Amino acid sequence: LICRYNSTLVAVEEPIIPPVSVKHTQLLINGQFVDAASGKTFPTLDPRTGEVIAHIAEGDVEDVNRAVSAARKAFDEGPWPRMTAYERSRIILRFADLLEQHTDEIAALETWDNGKPYEQAAKTEIPMTVRLFRYYAGWADKIHGLTVPADGPYHVQTLHEPIGVAGQIIPWNFPMLMFSWKVGPALACGNTVVIKTAEQTPLSAVYAAKLFHEAGLPDGVLNVVSGFGPTAGAALASHMEVDKLAFTGSTDTGKIVLELASKSNLKPVTLELGGKSPFIVCEDADVDQAVELSHSAVFFNQGQCCCAGSRTFVHEHVYNEFVEKARARAMNRSVGDPFKVGIEQGPQVDSDQFEKILRCIRSGVESGAVLETGGDRFGSNGYYIQPTVFSNVQDEMSIAKEEIFGPVQSILKFKDLDEVIKRSNNSRYGLAAGIFTHNLDTANTLSRALKVGTVWINCYDVFDAAIPFGGYKMSGNGREKGIYSLSNYLQVKAVVTALKNPSWL
Ligand code: NAD
Repeated sequence: LICRYNSTLVAVEEPIIPPVSVKHTQLLINGQFVDAASGKTFPTLDPRTGEVIAHIAEGDVEDVNRAVSAARKAFDEGPWPRMTAYERSRIILRFADLLEQHTDEIAALETWDNGKPYEQAAKTEIPMTVRLFRYYAGWADKIHGLTVPADGPYHVQTLHEPIGVAGQIIPWNFPMLMFSWKVGPALACGNTVVIKTAEQTPLSAVYAAKLFHEAGLPDGVLNVVSGFGPTAGAALASHMEVDKLAFTGSTDTGKIVLELASKSNLKPVTLELGGKSPFIVCEDADVDQAVELSHSAVFFNQGQCCCAGSRTFVHEHVYNEFVEKARARAMNRSVGDPFKVGIEQGPQVDSDQFEKILRCIRSGVESGAVLETGGDRFGSNGYYIQPTVFSNVQDEMSIAKEEIFGPVQSILKFKDLDEVIKRSNNSRYGLAAGIFTHNLDTANTLSRALKVGTVWINCYDVFDAAIPFGGYKMSGNGREKGIYSLSNYLQVKAVVTALKNPSWL
């Protein structure tokens, strides 16, 4: 299957056989592969067809208890927080090397489980995952406290200590990258981890965790539990022996895990949630560049990105030209089997997301937005959706307010800067924004006025291990990546020592 939406070739051929087999289907607890205590499994599906790839151990409360006990013991008694930071760094670096050597296999697992283009996984996401672990390996032996001045005869120092057992819950849109954003800083700081993978994409994280053990990670330091949110996820969020929780997913689930954490042991929680990010094209922008980048800002990863630039605001003077070019670009997007070379867009992750996106598209049509292209499923098999572009979108329409998480571009017209600032900020979300202008003053005004965690100017989706990421408002709290993520996984202890002979005079 390789076809362009505007071509006549829309027949779905047989899916390509993935160049990988599934090796691990069990939970990884205390360094051992184990079945779920209940013996239950759940199927993980190929989004190209809806067929079962493998049956995966379904972790539940008892398995989370086992995993947390292992992580607790590894933290309280094991070598990981006690070895030198240099040794920890060496193990993380060895793991990064192994990950890099297994890029093809892991990328294939990601594509098979998630539907993302194999080239994207192999050339971008797995290398970024490797880079992330190397970055945090570099931090491991550079974490230290401060000497603090005091009003009196005291020597005051701060110790930056690992928090303990980190519980982590990740989504399905970037399984390996989310694994790295969570596990990298937690382990570099000397914590132990229990991570719950998303039920749609359990394959890659357990494979990577096995490699971590081959790199020398002691047993119990990294435990991987596959399973569902309301069971395994909730058990982790409410566990009394979990000292810190990190979550990425929807805002609604973020509220649930925050409540579970506060009702149990008040563990600190970092949240990376949804977004409805504005992508602002000013009248002086390079329209062709803005069209291309707004296209990838929306359609990248089948539109399944929390920071998708999903509200495309275009100045009225360039609006008609922009709409015409955006429509042409979307019609030219290559959709098809994600294992095929040159494919830009594979299927959505599962039938729930597929149906939700089609409902959003219907709502856009019913509310009076102009459907420029797309609007329906693509082919007749699997969870493929046509690249869809709406123009004449108004702020009050639900396609302009709700996170669609699919290949749907909504184009809105604006007249001046004050108006676009107000409209951009008129959202419960505040994750990211794109600004397209050559005017320095415009760029400065917008970047300071927008209530978002990341602003990209004349670029979009530029990620780097060192660049922090996170949201304002209901897009979450805390920052991941960069130096900022370390503080999520460290306690600060003040040590005050009385001095007997303070004066050196
Ligand atoms: P979700 O929030 O339900 O799932 C994310 C993770 O949370 C998964 O591991 C899931 O098992 C877990 N989870 C679910 N319910 C839980 C609970 N009660 N307690 C603890 N953990 C729980 O997201 P979803 O259903 O997979 O997707 C729904 C929407 O969320 C999407 O349409 C999209 O809008 C948004 N989303 C955002 C991101 C992001 O990166 N910000 C990622 C995925 C999905």
